[in-house]
Formats: sequence, structure tokens, C-alpha cells
Amino acid sequence: MKTDIEYLKEIIEKSGNIVFFGGAGVSTESGIPDFRSADGLYSEQYKYPPETMLSRSFFNRHTDEFYRFYRNKMLYPDAEPNAAHFALAKLEELGSLKAVITQNVDGLHTRAGSVNVLELHGSAHRNICLTCGIVYPLDKIIQTEGIPLCDCGGIIKPDVVLYEEELNHSILDRAARAIGNADMLIVGGTSLNVYPAAGLISYYRGKNLILINKSETPYDYRADLIIRESIGKTLGKIVGI
Ligand code: ZN
Repeated sequence: MKTDIEYLKEIIEKSGNIVFFGGAGVSTESGIPDFRSADGLYSEQYKYPPETMLSRSFFNRHTDEFYRFYRNKMLYPDAEPNAAHFALAKLEELGSLKAVITQNVDGLHTRAGSVNVLELHGSAHRNICLTCGIVYPLDKIIQTEGIPLCDCGGIIKPDVVLYEEELNHSILDRAARAIGNADMLIVGGTSLNVYPAAGLISYYRGKNLILINKSETPYDYRADLIIRESIGKTLGKIVGI
């Protein structure tokens, strides 16, 4: 009898249009905690829950407090890509993987070498002046204190999608199209409960839906294979890293 890994490897080898959809679980293996699963940790240090502090109205009204939380809990400039990031970059290089769709804002897929990365929630590596539109790198946020200001005096905002903000339509369209055209969809490190993950998965018309996640998801019933294992270990084994 084949192991799950052997079976997964076999489907990947037969597929010509693989799309990967990933969530926070992909980055936790790089030491970046999922803020959604750790509310308790913040209650002592902060007066508001993370979802409030990461909302657009909170950014507008309490910009200073937003940045205190954001710098302390959302930015991990020393995090390195893990085996999952490298394996996906390798599969793209080999030609079968066509897109990585991610809910993470840490830029680790790009760092690992992936080219077609669709960042649904934006990127901490782009920071935009709300007055003149100039884009600053992550260093501009890390190397300043308080509210980061542009040379023009404007307030700089991370190009990450905050609660109450809309997702970028063009990226959402490209993600929906990539999923709609795929013949294999690998979903990893997400419980698929967070908008717009569940909606996007419904565009999938292909045969092989693979879920790699430690907990249950609402799509388990549709999956051809469910692996409740570390995503780095699983994908790493596929490409031999
Ligand atoms: Zn400016």
C-alpha cells in the first residue's frame, strides 16, 4: 500500500497545472505565529483584540498604537523560508506549479524563489505614503519609532489588507482564475474559515484537491487526500529537501 506521501508525489508528477493555496500555517513553521490563534497572549499587553488593532478604523484613529502592535507582533524580519516555501519554488521551477496564492504578508514565498505569488492580503515589504504614494521597504517601518512618516510629511501605511478594507480585485481575479484552471489544488496551513479562502476554493473544478492542515476544514469532505502533518515536512519530502 502506498503512503500518503507516495500518493501525493504521484499526483504531483502527473499534474501539469498545480496551484497552491496557503495560510498562516505555512509561516508558523518559519517561527511566525498566527495572531488569530493567540488572542490570550495579547490581552495583558494590549487593550484591544488583534482583529480590532488590525482594522482600518483603528489605524486611522490610533495610528501610534497600531504601529506598536504591528511592529511587535506582525513583523518578523529575521524569519527565513522553510521547506514548504522552498519546495513550492522548486515545483514552479520544474514547470508544474503555476501559482502560489497566500494569505501571508511576510514575503517568504518570494524570498524562497517563487515567482508567481498572489498575495491576497498584501505585503509587509511595501509601505505606502498615504499623501504622495511613494513606496517604502520594510526597513522604513523597522528603523523608525512611533508613526513612520514620509519625506513629504505624510503618514506611511503598510500595504497589507486590514480588517474593514477590501482585497485587491485584480489579485483576487487572478487567484480565482488560477484556481479555476488548475488540475491539482494543494491547500495548506489554513483552516479555510477566513474570508476569502473558502470562496476562492469554490472556483476549483479539477480532480485532485489535497489538504495539508493539522486541523479539520469545511472542505475535508471534498478532498482526495488529507494530510494532518507539518506542511514543511510533507512538501519537503516530495521534492527531496
Ligand atoms: Zn509622501
